[in-house]
Amino acid sequence: MKTVLIVGGGFAGINCARVLAGSPQVSVCLMDRRNYHLFQPLLYQVAMAGLSPADIASPIRGLFAGSENVRVVQAEVTALALPERQVRTSAGSFDYDYLVLAAGAQHSYFGNEQWEEHAPGLKSLEQATEIRRRVLSAFERAECEPDPARRRALLTFVVIGGGPTGVELAGAIGEMTRFTLARDFRSIDPQLTRIILVEAGPRILPSFDPALASQAARELERLGVQLWVNGRVSEINATGVHVGEDHLACHTVIWAAGVQASLLGAGVPAGKDPQGRVVVGSDLALEADPRVFVIGDQAHFRTGATARPLPGVASVAIQQGRHAAQVILADIAGRPRLPFRFRDKGQLATIGRRRAVLQRGRLRLAGSLAWLLWLFVHIYFLVGFRNRVIVLMQWCWSYLTFSRGARLIVEKQWHSYRAATLRDAPADSGRAAPADSGRAAVPAAPGGPAPSSLRFVAERTAENESGARRSA
Ligand SMILES: Cc1cc2nc3c(=O)[nH]c(=O)nc-3n(C[C@H](O)[C@H](O)[C@H](O)COP(=O)(O)OP(=O)(O)OC[C@H]3O[C@@H](n4cnc5c(N)ncnc54)[C@H](O)[C@@H]3O)c2cc1C
Repeated sequence: MKTVLIVGGGFAGINCARVLAGSPQVSVCLMDRRNYHLFQPLLYQVAMAGLSPADIASPIRGLFAGSENVRVVQAEVTALALPERQVRTSAGSFDYDYLVLAAGAQHSYFGNEQWEEHAPGLKSLEQATEIRRRVLSAFERAECEPDPARRRALLTFVVIGGGPTGVELAGAIGEMTRFTLARDFRSIDPQLTRIILVEAGPRILPSFDPALASQAARELERLGVQLWVNGRVSEINATGVHVGEDHLACHTVIWAAGVQASLLGAGVPAGKDPQGRVVVGSDLALEADPRVFVIGDQAHFRTGATARPLPGVASVAIQQGRHAAQVILADIAGRPRLPFRFRDKGQLATIGRRRAVLQRGRLRLAGSLAWLLWLFVHIYFLVGFRNRVIVLMQWCWSYLTFSRGARLIVEKQWHSYRAATLRDAPADSGRAAPADSGRAAVPAAPGGPAPSSLRFVAERTAENESGARRSA
């Protein structure tokens, strides 16, 4: 029996494992640093409070609970040792006969990684909930902000990147402010919100037909989104964004511009394209090591020397995942490897309520019908029956009521004893507790006050001791 190690439980990895599941010739190890499969095309709805994180994620272990030959491991791959047929991970080393790399992509700030702090991208649930927190907090703060300039900055939202993700995000902010938040606030007029979509190229949705892109631009403007095309971002900091000569004072910036393949590809003996994607052969394997496959967003695949490489979209990842599995099974059975053929299912982007654009072959659609197809496709590809039902119900509810049920500002701080409070306390606050406080005094560190975390631990320990004394 051959061991197939799949790195990544995204669209590519999951679909590869599904084809191999149940096959008596292989033992599959599906590894991901997260314990869930994430449906990234709906991440923007989590960021815009339309859906909850659990609605678009499924535990990977649950997906393969009934497949005896699939073992799921939560671990991060840290290095590849291809000559030894081994990968090194946070959970130790794993051997393989066939390796499938499907680790996806991450954001690229084009060498300006310091921008990330001020302009999170949208690739993970953590980022989506952080964007949600920033957007909703901006409205809450604007409600109590007396200074008009600061209030204006709080109500200015800048989305950088005019591809499908940027368009969907900008449209969703426009829709949320105009339809959902408009009735909730008393001191601010959410209609005054400025949403600016900055695109470096001459038009948004560059991969779509120009007529469809123009239609999408009109729909965005209808939702109050300003389009800044040919806008080159030169700086992002705590005060806002510099676009060319202009400085946009704003509180919330979202990055939807650049993508870079997983850094795991760096250790692979093959060519890389400018986005770091690994160049693979016609069967999706490495020419230098045919037992190693690279698929999905991590791979650079083209059908011929003149053809354009396939884009980083879900349908490519799904089909490549299935194909890599079939090649492995053929290889084990001694059959020839077939080349990968991509069947183009078209592309879709939605722009708020009842508006979308669809392009498939010669077919061009815009408006409500495209939006219905968008709904259908996303429900169909969403992993897990529960998620499908819940998302469908959420959408029906939002459509009828204009509400967004997941409008929660969830902070990252979880301690009951907030470190910030202790840090802000007077330096000697831990030394001598008031006589009637019932707390023991906490000794200060020699040469000055204890660091806040130390004081925090010391205070809790003292509290426990005094509690123990009380009960004794
Ligand atoms: C916001 C957004 C919207 C999108 N919208 C659309 C859309 O509308 N239509 C469309 O077709 N496509 C869309 N895409 C693109 C689509 O989601 C991707 O093309 C697809 O997810 C690629 O699948 P993948 O399996 O290659 O990678 P991913 O789905 O990214 O999966 C990679 C997996 O590898 C894991 N991983 C990474 N590194 C390691 C490591 N070192 N060790 C262990 N595990 C690791 C990750 O945790 C992840 O689970 C969108 C993407 C984003 C971000």
